[in-house]
Amino acid sequence: MKAHQTVTRVVLWIGIVSLVASLGCEAMVGRIVKSAANRQASSAAQATLEDDALHVFLCGTGSPLPDADSAAACTLVVAGGKVYVVDVGPGSQEVAQIAGYPTRAVAGIFLTHFHSDHIGELGEWAMQSWANGRTGPLNVYGPEGVDRVVRGFKEAYALDDGYRIAHHSAEVMPPGATEWLAHSVPYTNGPGTKILEDGDLVVTAFAVDHEPIEPAVGYRFDYKGRSVVVSGDTDKSTNLELNAKGADLLIHEVLIKSVMTQVSHAMGERGSSRLQKITLDVTDYHTSPNEAAQSANAAGVQTLVFTHLVPPLPGAIRKWLFMRDVDQGDVDVMLGEDGMTFRLPPGSDVIEID
Ligand SMILES: [Zn+2]
Ligand SMILES: [Zn+2]
Repeated sequence: MKAHQTVTRVVLWIGIVSLVASLGCEAMVGRIVKSAANRQASSAAQATLEDDALHVFLCGTGSPLPDADSAAACTLVVAGGKVYVVDVGPGSQEVAQIAGYPTRAVAGIFLTHFHSDHIGELGEWAMQSWANGRTGPLNVYGPEGVDRVVRGFKEAYALDDGYRIAHHSAEVMPPGATEWLAHSVPYTNGPGTKILEDGDLVVTAFAVDHEPIEPAVGYRFDYKGRSVVVSGDTDKSTNLELNAKGADLLIHEVLIKSVMTQVSHAMGERGSSRLQKITLDVTDYHTSPNEAAQSANAAGVQTLVFTHLVPPLPGAIRKWLFMRDVDQGDVDVMLGEDGMTFRLPPGSDVIEID
């Protein structure tokens, strides 16, 4: 296919996806149907709290661009009877609730950086986990600046907190859960810094390269000999490779730079100089699928999962475009999608994927 044909088709796909996303009721019908079909999965999600394995659930594999199939950035980890969430992009809370994850057990929300597609649903995660039975404060971890983000969302939800306590009673909606604790996490451009230890779970933070956006970090979860690393947003990062050493699972952001460059040219030809600039700007602080595979091989991880998929593309073309230039080497590489689950039992190197 000639380059200009590719450009035309990509622009058309993005236009179609945006149109569908703007028709909220259409998307909602799809999600309700999916929700009915997912009742069995829901009880499995609840059961993760009782299971001794490390669990990972993709609650958002999209980006800031409208995407009818994917919520924005979100990865959920269940370990030792508690739920941890890395990034809370718009739509992610709904994905987790529909899948049946016990958000009452949210013990920590970890923000990688403060772009809106990573923090936009912090208020809903707080409110919905409270409505689902969370009784203690909400712990929010992030690099410096997290206290400001938490303060802002907390203030925006203050009236709503009051309504719900007054209407449903303090017994049903305990006021203690409306306390949000911001934890500014230390990290370096070097070995990861331990920021949380809870039973057998250790969480470390490390710098990534989302220049000019600073701060930006990734997180690693180690639990009973199994491990998952979440990249956050980053260009190809040697520090991520250092901190992902030997991990079982690497959840890595990707952007197809060649396609986004073509989209930018097309926007220019169409006379949309603002979109031409924006779509070109984003190519310089993300990782291409093959670069992510190179990092995964350098780190010696077992399985690499693509997330934060840019651009948003429908169905079969999505897999083809994100995977076509990938030299997977010794690593299992797969395209993430919302709702995908991974179970990593201790004392084994097995990863059960659903
Ligand atoms: Zn970002
Ligand atoms: Zn992002």
